[in-house]
Amino acid sequence: LDPILENYVRLVKNAIFSIVLPTPLETEIKLIAASQDVIKNILDLDPSVTESKEFIEFVAGNKILESCAPLAHRYGGHQFGVWAGQLGDGRAHLLGEYVNRKGERWELQLKGSGKSPYSRGADGRAVIRSSIREFLCAEAMHFLGVPTSRVAAVVCSQDPVIRDRFYDGNPQTERAAVVLRLAPTWFRFGSLEILAKNYDEWETLKILAKYLTQTLLPKEVLQSCQPKDSPKLLLALIEQVAEGTWKLAVHWEAVGFVHGVLNTDNLSLGCVTIDYGPFGFVEAYNPHFIPNTSDSNGRYSLKGQWHAIDWDLQRLVNALTPLLCSDESDSEGEDDFSDEARQILEVSSQKALIWKKYAFCGKLGLPSGKKWIDVTKGGSTNMEEELLEDDDASSQDELVETLLNMMEETQSDFTMTFRQLGEEDLNNLYPEKLPDHLWALKKLSEHRNYQSFLDAYRERLMSEGVTEEERKKTMQEVNPCYVLRNWMAEEAIKMAETEDDFSKVRLLLDVLSNPYERQKVAEEAGYSSPSPVWASCIRVSCSS
Ligand code: AMP
Ligand code: MG
Ligand code: MG
Repeated sequence: LDPILENYVRLVKNAIFSIVLPTPLETEIKLIAASQDVIKNILDLDPSVTESKEFIEFVAGNKILESCAPLAHRYGGHQFGVWAGQLGDGRAHLLGEYVNRKGERWELQLKGSGKSPYSRGADGRAVIRSSIREFLCAEAMHFLGVPTSRVAAVVCSQDPVIRDRFYDGNPQTERAAVVLRLAPTWFRFGSLEILAKNYDEWETLKILAKYLTQTLLPKEVLQSCQPKDSPKLLLALIEQVAEGTWKLAVHWEAVGFVHGVLNTDNLSLGCVTIDYGPFGFVEAYNPHFIPNTSDSNGRYSLKGQWHAIDWDLQRLVNALTPLLCSDESDSEGEDDFSDEARQILEVSSQKALIWKKYAFCGKLGLPSGKKWIDVTKGGSTNMEEELLEDDDASSQDELVETLLNMMEETQSDFTMTFRQLGEEDLNNLYPEKLPDHLWALKKLSEHRNYQSFLDAYRERLMSEGVTEEERKKTMQEVNPCYVLRNWMAEEAIKMAETEDDFSKVRLLLDVLSNPYERQKVAEEAGYSSPSPVWASCIRVSCSS
C-alpha cells in the first residue's frame, strides 16, 4: 500500500506510530546552516558532508535512506490545562535511530517535512523564522549546559507557506524550511496520555511503557527490578522523569529561559528541552515575563513554568495509573502503586527547590553552587537528609532573593547583571565608581539597597571563605555573556528571509557555541550591550 495514500488526516486508534513519507521540498533548496558539533560529534560525519547535495536533500526530506522507514508519532496532550485529544507529529517525521561511536543512541527527526495523519487542519510545513529559532536556540542551550534536543541542520526553499503575517492588510507569503533534529527520545508525556484515555488502548499503553523503561532506565535499575514488567520499573521511570524534568526547570531558570508552551505534549520523557516555539530569555528581570503572546494569562511565564511542570508531572502519573494499579500485580499482595508515585513527585518537587537554591547561590559564586553542579553531573547529594534537617532548605537564599528583588524593581538585565557582577572586583562596584560599560549594574545601582546589598554580599563571601579570585572564576563559569535574545535571532532571520544571507545565523551559532567567553565579534555585534530600541517591538506567538 502507498503509505501516503493510506495516511490521510484522521483520528488514529490503537497505534503509537503511522508509517508516512516526508513530502519533498520542491523549489531551490538551500542549506541555511549546520551544527558542526552535531555533524562531527553526534553523527560521526565529516563536516564537509554538509556541502554535498545529498546531505541537503536528506535534510529536506527529499532523499530517504534505504534503511529508513519514516514514522509520524501519535500523541495527545493537555494544552493550557485542557485535554486536547489527538495531536501527534503533524509536521514531523522520525527517520530512525543512530548509535554513534561513543555508544550514544540518538533519534533523528525532520520537522516541517509535510503532512501526516496528525496534521489536523494544518499544512505540515514550518517557516524559515521558526526553524532558524529552533536551530539556534537548541544549539545555544546545549552550549549553555542545558539538556536539550539538538539540531544538525536547517534548509529552506522557495515553497510558499501562509501564516498569520500581514503587510498593508494583505497576507504575506513565507517560505518553507525543514530542520533535522535529534533527541535521545522524541516520546513525550502526551505519548502515554493518549493511550491512557481509553480502556481499550491500555494494552498498547503497556507496550509503550515497557519499551520506555527498557530504553530509558539505566542497566543497574533494570537488573535490580524483577520481574521485568513490575510496577517498580514504572516507579523508577516516574522518578527519573520527575527528577530530570525538575533539573531542566532549574537549568532554565538559572539562565532565564522561558519555554513558552509547557503543554504536556511538549515535555520530553528524555528530560531534555524540546519543541522550541515562542520561547524567550528574560532581559529586564521580571518574574512575570511571558514570551508567548498567545499566553494571555501567563500560565507559562518565567515564574509560572515552575507550577506548570508540577502540573504536567501529575498528568504523567495519571497516564501511568492504569498500569500502576493493574490487577496483575495483586499476586504480590499489593495492587496500587499510585500513592507511591505521588509520593515520588512530592519528594522530587522538594528536591527541585533545593537545587534551585544551590544553582542561584552558584550564580553569586557561593560554595553551595558546587552542589548543583554535582547534581547536574549525576552525582549524589544527601538531599533527603537535607530536607529533613533544614526547614528552610527549600526557600530561596536571602541574598539571592534580595538581588532578584532589586533587579525586578530596577528592571536590570538578568544575564548581564550576573555576568558583570562576576567580572569585576567588588571593590570597583560602589555606585560612584561604576563605569558606563557596566550598564546592567548601573541600572541595578539605582536601587536604594544597592550599597547595603554589596556590603552584605562581601560579608557573606568572607564568612564562607571565598576569595575575589575564586568568586569571579566560578561566576564566569555559570553566568553567560551571550544568550539568544529575540532581537539577535530577529536580525539574523530578516537577512535570511529577505536576502538569503545566512551569515548572521552562522555567526550567532559560532558565538553561542561559546557563551561563557567574551568574543570580539560578539562584542562588536552588540550581543552583550543593551538591546536596540526596535527590539521592544518584537512579538513571538505560536505561529510557526
Ligand atoms: P506545538 O504547539 O508546536 O507543540 O504543536 C502542537 C501540535 O500542532 C503538534 O501536534 C504539531 O504537530 C501540530 N502542528 C503545528 N503546526 C503544524 C503545521 N503547520 N502542520 C501540521 N501540524 C502542525
Ligand atoms: Mg509540540
Ligand atoms: Mg512547536
